[in-house]
Amino acid sequence: MGYTHLFGPVSSRRLGSSLGVDLVPYKICSFDCVYCEVGSTTRKTTSRQEFFPPSEVEAELTRFLSTTPTLDFVTLSGSGEPTLSSSLGRVIRFVKSGFPSYPLAVLTNGSLLWDQEVQRELMPADVVLPTLSTVNEETFQRIHRPSPGLTIGKIIQGLKDFRIVYQGEIWLEVFLIPGVNMGRDDLAALGEEIQRIRPERVQLNTLDRPGTEPWVRPAGREELAEAARILGLPGAEQIQPASHGSPHERVFTDPASMIVEMIQRRPCTVEDISEVTGLHRQAVGKLIRELSRDPRLRSRREARGIFYSWTGD
Ligand code: SF4
Repeated sequence: MGYTHLFGPVSSRRLGSSLGVDLVPYKICSFDCVYCEVGSTTRKTTSRQEFFPPSEVEAELTRFLSTTPTLDFVTLSGSGEPTLSSSLGRVIRFVKSGFPSYPLAVLTNGSLLWDQEVQRELMPADVVLPTLSTVNEETFQRIHRPSPGLTIGKIIQGLKDFRIVYQGEIWLEVFLIPGVNMGRDDLAALGEEIQRIRPERVQLNTLDRPGTEPWVRPAGREELAEAARILGLPGAEQIQPASHGSPHERVFTDPASMIVEMIQRRPCTVEDISEVTGLHRQAVGKLIRELSRDPRLRSRREARGIFYSWTGD
């Protein structure tokens, strides 16, 4: 039996071996970022709601975690913004009380951290990973194309408020796009704001897979190092492109469906698929060739190789 709300475990560039939990359907988000790897936002909103019965997610978590897999994190993330789900708090409590040996992370765009209910629900999480890529309103609108009413001032205030009440770790992502948010003055101002927010870690990220907008290009190693210097954050981590280490443990009974499930969520190379599924690259290549008879399979060449994606029905 497959899983609807769980994916992976994937080898996450920021979290290691991570079991993804998807609380929001494709593709509902409060942002429509130009670099989004998941695709364009089809419903942009800041309204929280229950998208799936939480009992469904809990049943899948029980089934998977009862096998005591080796994981670095159980991560709420997925096809949209997880804090939009009003089941967020319940699912976090479920994992922390039922499977306390697993650290729990929440990948969020940070747009709802000013909401006291969201703050309260996030309390038991071990790590919250919000994004802050600029302090400039115009640049914020250009990168994130947010839901009406969201301003960078409101989001920064939310981050500061959350920092005061939250006892876990905050790992702040700064997503860097050359020519957009890497100007000296912009980075210096952002660095000052980050010092005030006091995250435990700062992770400099850049495009790794095709983004929503083809003009977005990744920052190179040197550009990231220079950005860290201007930010005044020499300890900031540069997130490296996806590694291709050992395969994960999970075995999928239907590899073709698994590949479709993976590339529906985000574009992947043959190497990415091989790493997550444990299938040999040649086997993945053969399955991709078979899947290519279906017009829903799309491919796009990028610096890291050919990325495959799967469009909706
Ligand atoms: S990158 Fe994250 S926040 Fe931005 S549109 Fe995609 S899912 Fe939403």
